[in-house]
Amino acid sequence: MSEEEKIAYVFKVVVIGDSAVGKTQLLSRFAKNEFCLDSKSTIGVEFQTRTVSISSKLVKAQIWDTAGQERYRAVTSAYYRGALGAMLVYDVTKRQSFDHVARWVDELRAHADASIVIMLIGNKADLLDSRAVPAEDAVEFAETENLFFFETSALSGENVEPAFLKLLQEIYDVV
Ligand code: GDP
Ligand code: MG
Repeated sequence: MSEEEKIAYVFKVVVIGDSAVGKTQLLSRFAKNEFCLDSKSTIGVEFQTRTVSISSKLVKAQIWDTAGQERYRAVTSAYYRGALGAMLVYDVTKRQSFDHVARWVDELRAHADASIVIMLIGNKADLLDSRAVPAEDAVEFAETENLFFFETSALSGENVEPAFLKLLQEIYDVV
């Protein structure tokens, strides 16, 4: 059997959050183990995939990127349709991107399945000197809203793999 034939599940995951928090770079890091230094804002690519082993089954993660619509708050309900998981990303150096997280949770509650698994991500954790969001604030918010939480760096790769794998494992455990 080819790898494609051995895939037991395909999980759609959406990546959301304010513009420039590092959504596209997180996705490239997970899907291709790449970080692009001079990345332009996303155009074109709708999703990337990576197949991983979860509880001894091959799971293909189909991870959707917002393609820049987040600027106009124009992420459509089609984007959320069928999504089993969401990576909700803010930038630990931009307080505003964290203050907007509640709005993104409202978006998910309005447009996505009630059972969607949400992973809150504080990205750019490598920028230690310019931190504007204490991890405790995010931990508290995540507990209140029932979200999982990781701080990551798409640049160094720190915690990117554990965050995606945890999300996929949680989805696997609920489906
Ligand atoms: P998006 O608009 O949310 O998709 O953000 P991008 O992925 O395009 O990243 C926006 C900017 O932040 C780019 O200049 C990236 O190089 C930078 N960036 C993304 N992730 C990280 C990170 O983990 N650390 C640092 N230092 N910069 C990052
Ligand atoms: Mg992008």
